[in-house]
Amino acid sequence: MKFSRLCSEETGFRSLPVETDLYDILGVSPDATEAEIKKAYRQKAKEHHPVPKNINDPAAGQKFQEMAAAYETLSDPQMREIYDEAGMDGLSGGGPGMGGMDAADLFAQFFQASGGGGGMPFGFDFGGGAGPSRRRRKGEDTEIPHAVTLDELYNGKTLRLSMEKEAVCGTCKGTGAKGSAKPKPCSGCDGKGWTTVQMSHGSHITTSRVSCSNCDGTGEKLREKDRCKKCKGEKIVKEKNRQEVVIEKGMADKQRIILAGAGDEEPGTPAGDVIFILRLTSHESFERSGSDLLTNVTITLSEALFGFSRILITHLDGRGIQVTSPPGKIIKHADTIVLRGEGMPVYKQPDTKGDLYLTFTIEMPDDEWLKTVDRKTLLSLIPPKKADIEPRPAVVSTAAFEEADIEEVRERYFPAGQDFFDHAFASQFGEGDEDDWVEDEDEDAEFGGREPECRPQ
Ligand SMILES: [Zn+2]
Ligand SMILES: [Zn+2]
Repeated sequence: MKFSRLCSEETGFRSLPVETDLYDILGVSPDATEAEIKKAYRQKAKEHHPVPKNINDPAAGQKFQEMAAAYETLSDPQMREIYDEAGMDGLSGGGPGMGGMDAADLFAQFFQASGGGGGMPFGFDFGGGAGPSRRRRKGEDTEIPHAVTLDELYNGKTLRLSMEKEAVCGTCKGTGAKGSAKPKPCSGCDGKGWTTVQMSHGSHITTSRVSCSNCDGTGEKLREKDRCKKCKGEKIVKEKNRQEVVIEKGMADKQRIILAGAGDEEPGTPAGDVIFILRLTSHESFERSGSDLLTNVTITLSEALFGFSRILITHLDGRGIQVTSPPGKIIKHADTIVLRGEGMPVYKQPDTKGDLYLTFTIEMPDDEWLKTVDRKTLLSLIPPKKADIEPRPAVVSTAAFEEADIEEVRERYFPAGQDFFDHAFASQFGEGDEDDWVEDEDEDAEFGGREPECRPQ
C-alpha cells in the first residue's frame, strides 16, 4: 500500500511520506494530528479487540497487534518523523538521518531500552518489559486444575463458582481519572514516557532510553485530586462475579474448559482466559478406558458353579444393573463379561455410550463354613486333588506355608506397564486437589454473604 493522494501543499509543513502503511492500519490520513491518531487507535482497538467479539477469528489478534504497533510508532513524534522520512526502512535502521541524529542509533537505543532486538521485526515486539508502552497482546491466562470424579464425567455437572478478578474500573472506564479530569504531562520525563541513562563501558559511553518510573512510561500523570474515587487512580478494581463451568458428559481427564475473557483485565489489553483443567480422581469401583468402563464383581462359589440372576452393580448414575448368567455356565476366577452400551457417554454424543467390562472375583467359602459340612461327602462330589508333578523333579525342597499380602508387596514396587486394574497404580494420578476455587453449591445463596475465598493467580 503506497500513499498517492496527498501532496505537501495540503499538509503545510509536513513533507510527503514515503509510505503510509502505518497510517492505513489506523485508518487516518498522514497529516492527522496526535489527537486524531490517538482517537483512531482507541476506536480501532475496540473494533479489533480479540475478546469477546472476535474470539473465533485468529486474524483479529494479529490485526490488533499490527494496530498497536502502528500506534506505538505514530504516537511518538520522533519515530513518526523518521517513519515519514524513510518508512519502515528508516525505523529498522539504514534510512536517512534526522536533525543531526542518526536514526539507526536512535532505534538501536530504543531496542536496547525496551529489551527488544533479537531479530524481532520492528513494531511487533510485545514481550513486555521496560518498553515505553508496556502493551501486551492479551492478558495472561489463568489455569486452574479442577478435580472431578468419574460420576461427574458420567452424569455431567455445572459448577457455580464465585470468583474475584481484576477488572477495568467502570467508574473511570480505565482512565483512573475523576470526571473529565485529564492527566498532566509527567514532570519526571517531560511527558515523553522515557528518560535517558548514560552508561560507561570503559572509555566508551552509551546513552540508553529507559522507561520513566514516575509515570510508568506513559508520559502522563494524574494529580492526587483528579484521581477516580473508586479505583484511586489505579484504573483497575477487584470485581466479584459468578462463573458457570459446565462439565459435559463424557469429558476426558485433563480436558480444558475455557472461559474466554474471564481472566484479569488491564486497560487497553484484552482480558486473559480462565482455563479449567479437569483432573480425574480415582473411583473406588470403576475405572475408565476411553469410552469403556471396567469394574470388578465378586460372586460366591455357589454363583460361580450354579449361576446367578441378581443386581450385580450400582452404576455411576445410581441405577442397579441386573444380570442373569446362562444356565450351565461355570464362571471361573478373572472371567470377564461385557455389558454393551453401559460404558461412558461419548463426549458431545451423550446418548452413545461405550461398554462396561465386568471381571469376576470368586469368593471362596471360609474356614467356618468348612466345619459345618461333611468334608468326606464334599470331597467325593468335587473334582479330585492334583497329584505330584510328573515327571517328579530329581531334587525337591520343602518350604513352609506362610500367609502373605501381595497388595503390600505391590505398593512397594511400581514397575512400568502395570495392570489396568491395579488401584494402587491408578491412585498415583489425579489425587492432588490444587483447586483454589471454592465451589458454590447453593445457587440461591446471597452473593457477598459468602466471601469468595479464591481468585485467579
Ligand atoms: Zn476508576
Ligand atoms: Zn514520566
